[in-house]
Amino acid sequence: MTLERPGPSTSPRDAAAGPARTAPQPRRARYDGPLIACDNLVRIYKVANLEVVALQGLDLQVDAGEFIALVGASGSGKSTLMNILGGLDVPSAGRAVVAGHDLGEMGRQRRTDYRRRGIGFVWQQTARNLLSYLTARQNVELPMLLNGVGRGEREARAIDLLARVGLAERGEHRPERLSGGEQQRVAIAVALANQPAVLFADEPTGELDTVTAHEVFDLLRTVNHELGVTIVVVTHDPLVSEQVSRTVAIRDGRTSSETLRRRAVSQQGNHHVISEEYAVLDRVGRLQLPRSHVEALGLERRVRLALEPDHISVWPDRDRSGDGAGDGAGGDGDSGGTGA
Ligand code: ADP
Ligand code: MG
Repeated sequence: MTLERPGPSTSPRDAAAGPARTAPQPRRARYDGPLIACDNLVRIYKVANLEVVALQGLDLQVDAGEFIALVGASGSGKSTLMNILGGLDVPSAGRAVVAGHDLGEMGRQRRTDYRRRGIGFVWQQTARNLLSYLTARQNVELPMLLNGVGRGEREARAIDLLARVGLAERGEHRPERLSGGEQQRVAIAVALANQPAVLFADEPTGELDTVTAHEVFDLLRTVNHELGVTIVVVTHDPLVSEQVSRTVAIRDGRTSSETLRRRAVSQQGNHHVISEEYAVLDRVGRLQLPRSHVEALGLERRVRLALEPDHISVWPDRDRSGDGAGDGAGGDGDSGGTGA
């Protein structure tokens, strides 16, 4: 993992020196472009003689420092994507690059290295994140131990991280003596131990009650803000996904829409959040219309398009259903020479 610190004032040792809460600058990477780039990603599982296409040409870009939520129905491919981004699985086709690592091209050693140093991962199952026979502090130290970090730095950094996740007093407890929410907090500290470029979390609050889930989510936001670590989190919770600046919806193994949120101030001076949903346009110009739009107009098989000065119109192919007479569509479906 080759990360360049933005300035002389934020060496990783400063961050590990103690529980001082000075917010380090977001770490900037040496490469250009988005931190995460998935391009036409395909993952096909072969089970006996059946092929399951879990990802079918998924595109996704995430900039350094972003905190995004992935949402989608069960079976839509979210975990498949996370496993590829986490270096646990490889794509069948297409490209995935994270922090300069081309995930389809890495050999075994580099993949292990990437998992250890390049990224942090938090799973839904609390038990999967922590070793039960180690204390919270030892769990946080373990990734650093595997990474060859010296004892003094390991301890100092583990103590700092436990303080950051609000568990300064719980360091000597084993997981069984921690609540589910506390265990997930420790898991976040473990995932951050080696100062990864990205933190991935696959439904990290899925086993928690609503209140605790929101606390854990608040912690992720704080960590994103204070440490500048990029976060990609899969969640089912619509309330939670409303708290991030970008939500990416996955449907049938593709990104289908994105919701962007920004803060705005009304004329009366009230702060509110403006949320807008966008359809995703892929590199070759394909667009997936929201199911509700398709159903509302009974769109089927093909539509007519017209390019206007500042937008494109989409009409049902009424000729086929027999009620298109007089609406100006010619027999060949061209509505006036502005083919889109
Ligand atoms: P999600 O996390 O959105 O619920 P998954 O990525 O787990 O979705 O699954 C996407 C699709 O791939 C589903 O149809 C699922 O059954 C299938 N799938 C996932 N993992 C495997 C596997 N190891 N072997 C076969 N099929 C799988
Ligand atoms: Mg899943």
